[in-house]
Amino acid sequence: MLSKKIILRDDEIPTQWYNIVPDIPNGLQPPLDPETKEPMGPEKLAVVFPMSLLEQEMSGERYIDIPEEIREIYSIWRPTPLVRADKLEKALNTKAKIYYKYEGASPVGSHKPNSAIAQAYYNKKEGVKRLATETGAGQWGSALSFATNKFGLECKVYMVRISFDQKPYRKAMMHTYGAEIIASPSSETAFGRSVLEKDPDTPGSLGIAISEALEDAAGREDTKYALGSVLNHVIHHQTVVGLEAKKQMEIVGDYPDIVIGCCGGGSNFAGIAAPYIADYLAGKKVRFVGVEPASCPTLTKGVYTYDFGDVAQLTPLLSMYTLGHDFIPPGIHAGGLRYHAMSPIVSALVREKIIEPISVRQLECFEAGVLFARTEGIIPAPESNHAIRAAIIEATKDKNEPKTILFNLSGHGLLDLGAYEQFFSGNLKNYDYPAEAVAEATKNLPKI
Ligand SMILES: *Cc1c(COP(=O)(O)O)cnc(C)c1O
Repeated sequence: MLSKKIILRDDEIPTQWYNIVPDIPNGLQPPLDPETKEPMGPEKLAVVFPMSLLEQEMSGERYIDIPEEIREIYSIWRPTPLVRADKLEKALNTKAKIYYKYEGASPVGSHKPNSAIAQAYYNKKEGVKRLATETGAGQWGSALSFATNKFGLECKVYMVRISFDQKPYRKAMMHTYGAEIIASPSSETAFGRSVLEKDPDTPGSLGIAISEALEDAAGREDTKYALGSVLNHVIHHQTVVGLEAKKQMEIVGDYPDIVIGCCGGGSNFAGIAAPYIADYLAGKKVRFVGVEPASCPTLTKGVYTYDFGDVAQLTPLLSMYTLGHDFIPPGIHAGGLRYHAMSPIVSALVREKIIEPISVRQLECFEAGVLFARTEGIIPAPESNHAIRAAIIEATKDKNEPKTILFNLSGHGLLDLGAYEQFFSGNLKNYDYPAEAVAEATKNLPKI
C-alpha cells in the first residue's frame, strides 16, 4: 500500500525555527523611519511590539529556539500530516507525484496559529495584558483569539467590514475563544472615524484595519499589536511547516522538484519554502512557485520599493513589492490574499529570482478546489485553491515527465462554503486588476 499520510511523533515537532534572512543573497533592506528616511531601530517599534519579537524581527541568527511552552501548545495539532495526493494525480492522469502539507489540521483551520501562539507567548512573558489586531477573512483573528485565550490575554480584533458582514461564523469562532470583535472602519479610533466620515459605506480593507489596531495599541499602556503575516518574525515561526515537511519527505525517500504556496502576505509560502531554499542556495535543484490572485497581483504587477504597511501610514517603510498602501481590493473576490504588499523576505527572494511568482484567476482556482474536494476529500480554503491550481498546472504541463510537487494546503474551507455556493451559482467572476489601476494605486508611494 502507498504511504498516503506521513505522520511524525509529537517529539519530532521542530525545536528551532529557521531564519532565512542571513541566507538571502544581497540581503534585506532595513525598515526606514518614515520621518527621517533613516533605518529604524527597535526603540520606536517597542511601543507596539514586545522586545523579544523585535529581536527576532532584526535577528541575523540562522536558528531561533522554540520555547517548550510553545511546542507544548503546538502539540495540540502539530506535527501536521504530509499527504500524497494520489487520487488527484489519478484524476489528472499525470506521472507527477503530488504531496501536500495539511495546515488545515489546526484548531482554527489554517497555518496562522503557528505564529499566533508564539506571539501571544512572548507578549505574555513581557507582561502585556491585551493584544489588538486586524483580520481580513477572519482566519488571523481566529488564530490570535485561540492563542490569547491559551495565555490568558485579552484580544481585540478589527475585522474588515465586508468580511464582518459576510462571515458570521468566523465572528462566532472568535467569540467562542473570548475575543472582542468590531467591524473596521469603526468609530472607536480617530482613523476609523476619519474614514467613515469620507465614505460611510466603505467595505474596509486590511490596510485600514491595521491602522486602527495600531492606533489602539499605541494608545494603551497594557496593549500591544500583533500582525498575522508579512513581518520577518511571522515568517520564521511559519518555518515549522517546511521543517516538518522535509523530515516527512525524507521518510518516504522523496525530494520536491517544485515547492508551491499561495501568497497573501507571504507567510505560509515562505514557511514551507524557506527550509528548501536553504538547500537550493547550497546547490540543490528546486523550483519555488508563489501564487497570487490576478485580482491582487502584488508580485507580478506591483513595484519593488519602500511603502507603508497600512493606509494611515503608521508603519515603518518596508522594502517590498506593493500595489500602493491605499489599494482597496475589488469586493467581487471571494478569497483572502488581498493585502496590498508582500513580505520583505518573499519580495527579496522574488527580486533575486529564487521565487517565481505567478497569478491565477479565481474561477480556475475554485475549479481546482472542487476537483481536490472530489478526489482527496478535503474542501480547501479559497486561498489554498491558488496553490492547488498551480500544482495542477505543473502536474499537467508534461504529463509523462516524472516530477515531485509539494504544496502547502494552508487551510480548509469549511467556513468558506458561502464562497463555494457563490461559485456554483455562477456569481463569482474573474477580475484582472487593470494596469491603469496599478499605476493609479502606486501614485502615492512615499518618496525615498
Ligand atoms: C491568511 C491565509 C493565507 C494568506 O496569508 P499568508 O501570510 O500569505 O500565508 C493563505 N491561506 C490561508 C488558509 C490563510 O488563512
